[in-house]
Amino acid sequence: MTWARTLLLQAAQNRWLRERAPQYSFVKRGVARFMPGESAEDAFRAVRELQAKGIGAVLTALGENVADRAEAEAETSQYTDILGKIWVQRIPAEISVKLTHLGLDLDKEFCFANLSRLIAISPTGKTVWIDMEQSSCVDATLEIYRRAREAGANVGVCLQSYLRRTEEDVRSLLPLGGAIRLVKGAYNETPEVAFPHKRDVDENYFRIAQTLLGEDARRAGLRAAIATHDTRIIARIQDWAAANGLAKNQLEFQMLYGIQRAEQLRLAAEGCRSIVLVAYGKYWFPWYMRRLAERPANVWFLARNFFSR
Ligand SMILES: Cc1cc2nc3c(=O)[nH]c(=O)nc-3n(C[C@H](O)[C@H](O)[C@H](O)COP(=O)(O)OP(=O)(O)OC[C@H]3O[C@@H](n4cnc5c(N)ncnc54)[C@H](O)[C@@H]3O)c2cc1C
Repeated sequence: MTWARTLLLQAAQNRWLRERAPQYSFVKRGVARFMPGESAEDAFRAVRELQAKGIGAVLTALGENVADRAEAEAETSQYTDILGKIWVQRIPAEISVKLTHLGLDLDKEFCFANLSRLIAISPTGKTVWIDMEQSSCVDATLEIYRRAREAGANVGVCLQSYLRRTEEDVRSLLPLGGAIRLVKGAYNETPEVAFPHKRDVDENYFRIAQTLLGEDARRAGLRAAIATHDTRIIARIQDWAAANGLAKNQLEFQMLYGIQRAEQLRLAAEGCRSIVLVAYGKYWFPWYMRRLAERPANVWFLARNFFSR
């Protein structure tokens, strides 16, 4: 089904679809599986529901690609509002941001300043997570993460196991401590930069997860977040961790809202840290297409919604 994945990821970039598709109610019903709603209040409600089940949360606002500094500043302000509410209302959540929404493509210094604004007001003990986007953004994203870490910030970055470079990146980032969220990768990449076969992506994932949970990483104080819905990999990592003397609460798993809910609950009940990334916002179309691309069978839910209008 590689063709279906490629098609869906191309649809994510298509402006015509992006502007029209979200208006259709069957598409809105489709995305509702992965998103509690478009407003921050919808997301907060979901965070409270997760909290009641022993599950933590990371919030992400789905923004459009920014065209100028004013838009990047507006995105940053949106997050400062959220962080203010997290603090005042004691909402048990962290945030995760896309650096391109904070102006990475416009000016790296400006983007770093925007990220620093968020780090400065993030409540103590809460990590500000940085998503990883297309491979063309990796160098700039890691440079900003490094600078933030060197300044002592409580910041985390996402790394993608489909990229050939990631194992090397992990090695150079480990001494910085901080936080790394390991994912497989959600963008359309060429075989030159990314493993084209899923089994290689999965094996690389398992290998890197062991490094992130290994002794050197623990000594550096790294917080490793294993972000996957792949129950086989989760079981392998749990077995490996038990064999290597790690306690259950030393393992942190992250998943997306609405996916593998039973597994999220199981991990929390077993004493692992179980965290869900809750997305909200009006500009959900490209994000939704990436969710469909991860599991093209999801398209059938969308089709069913269309025929049951
Ligand atoms: C917390 C979190 C943060 C993320 N941040 C980023 C990021 O910053 N950058 C980035 O490139 N990617 C990010 N991703 C997405 C990631 O790269 C993968 O595309 C996604 O997690 C699917 O891969 P998987 O590890 O679940 O494994 P897969 O092998 O793709 O899936 C394993 C199983 O999980 C279930 N599953 C997976 N996806 C879906 C779905 N959409 N709908 C229904 N079932 C599904 C299916 O049962 C599937 O068989 C993030 C994912 C998570 C969980």
